[in-house]
Amino acid sequence: MKIRIAKKAGFCMGVRRAVNLVLEALNKKKYPIYTYGPLIHNPQTLELLNKLGVKIIKDFKNDSPSGVCIIRAHGIPPQEKEELSKKHEILDGTCPRVLKVQALAKKAISEGKEVVIIGDKEHAEIKGILGYCQNKGYVVSSFEDLKNLPELKNYVILSQTTQDEKLFQEISQAILKKYLKGEIINTICKATEVRQNEVRNLSKMVSSIIVIGGKFSANTNRLAEIAKKEGKKVYLIEKPEEIPLEEIKKEKSVAITAGASTPNWLINEVVDFLKSHTSKFYLFLKHFSFLSFLHSFNLVLLFWGFLNFTYPLNQKNFFLLLSLFSFLMLKYNLENLQNLRSFEFYYSIKAIFIKKHEKLIKFLLLFFSLSCAISSILYHPKVLALFIVLLILNQALFRSLFHFIMEPLIFTALILFFYPLFNLSFFLIFLQTLFILIFLHLYFESVYSQTDGFLPSNFLFALLGYKEERLYKLMLFLIFLGVIFTLPLIFINKFFIILLLLWLFAYKLYVFSKNRPLGQIVYLENLSFILPFTFSLLSIILSYV
Ligand code: SF4
Repeated sequence: MKIRIAKKAGFCMGVRRAVNLVLEALNKKKYPIYTYGPLIHNPQTLELLNKLGVKIIKDFKNDSPSGVCIIRAHGIPPQEKEELSKKHEILDGTCPRVLKVQALAKKAISEGKEVVIIGDKEHAEIKGILGYCQNKGYVVSSFEDLKNLPELKNYVILSQTTQDEKLFQEISQAILKKYLKGEIINTICKATEVRQNEVRNLSKMVSSIIVIGGKFSANTNRLAEIAKKEGKKVYLIEKPEEIPLEEIKKEKSVAITAGASTPNWLINEVVDFLKSHTSKFYLFLKHFSFLSFLHSFNLVLLFWGFLNFTYPLNQKNFFLLLSLFSFLMLKYNLENLQNLRSFEFYYSIKAIFIKKHEKLIKFLLLFFSLSCAISSILYHPKVLALFIVLLILNQALFRSLFHFIMEPLIFTALILFFYPLFNLSFFLIFLQTLFILIFLHLYFESVYSQTDGFLPSNFLFALLGYKEERLYKLMLFLIFLGVIFTLPLIFINKFFIILLLLWLFAYKLYVFSKNRPLGQIVYLENLSFILPFTFSLLSIILSYV
């Protein structure tokens, strides 16, 4: 079965912005934290917020203790905002595009005009815009409502940002025909239009479409309606378990899309559910990554690559690599168990996997503890002492922001332990490996930040104020450093020019992650392997020249 995933689905800019405000408040521990109304129309995200202690205020007159109150992307009437601000610190998550519609309504009223809004009367966004209309705003949801409109003399027509383009055009033309002196201002958000057009295009390529989103989400339902109109079988689901697996397996091809309030982690769950039942290759990659083979091999390959520049692999070095690999499997799998609760908030498919394979992970812990002890002793007992110290340090830093230094620290400790006196070329190669390690850390964080989940506060991303641009700038800076520090190596030996290939691949990874492909988290994680693998390959080639 071919699975196509919409390029534009899930959280739109406005919703992501509002969710990030909650994240910031959580990170700064500004309790109590409230959202004025449910933050988004997605029950799963609301459940997570509830677990994190974020409460919902339904009425601005309520008597909840003072705290921080986040206004959701739909916006609210100005009167309610003023009342709320008397008691709470307001973090305004109103989407800038909704703010624009509110401003247009306010301007029209100040010019003595009336406002007609084409949208859903009950929707929070409409109620918010009406708050700026001083009783001169009218909502039209269907042709039926036209007869309820008063005599309009001078007016503007606005649209709900998630309104269907075709319906808006038809209704607004009908109003204009009835009352001549009106102005149409199309305020439909492009994000909605792009998603709807993509569903139309996807419908031409597949036999059925899965639409993920809250059953009460207007834009999710609209996507499902569009797919139905295109003659496709539609599965509107809130969670993967609702997919009729046996039925859908019979389909030749299926497309997946999601409403603007559906988080990417939920899209990942649905893709994972389908792929896990239809692709052996996907299952292999998932086990490779979730059981920590990927992360362990990444560091071992970098270390092995470095060894190739110093001493080629011999039997003794083999024990060193085995002990390092075992130590890393121990470290990462231990962290997996300890991180289980955090994964539930930002990497749900990994949380589900770990719960399911808890016994296997515990067995791996035991196995690699023994393997680490034996291989370390066979190499040199001092190595075992070093690993014990590193493991204790790792546990001490585990919940802190400095945990990200552990990989560079492990790598540096090993190098200094074995090669305390190295020359300029070794130093430059050592720097290359350090840059790769830090780059990979940032790359993983950028991939995890795309799940739209609630990231733990020990992420560097939290330190960067949850601003993705900063994360990407840092990644670019590391690529720049990598290239700059390759130049002296080329000066020493011209064959070192092939190391630039590494930074070309790093740039490719940067581009992949920046494009935010949906539902590809397992593939994106495994793509990281390309850097250590290339480094070790290049080190073999360069050790011969
Ligand atoms: S759909 Fe558009 S207007 Fe509405 S919250 Fe999202 S980005 Fe803003």
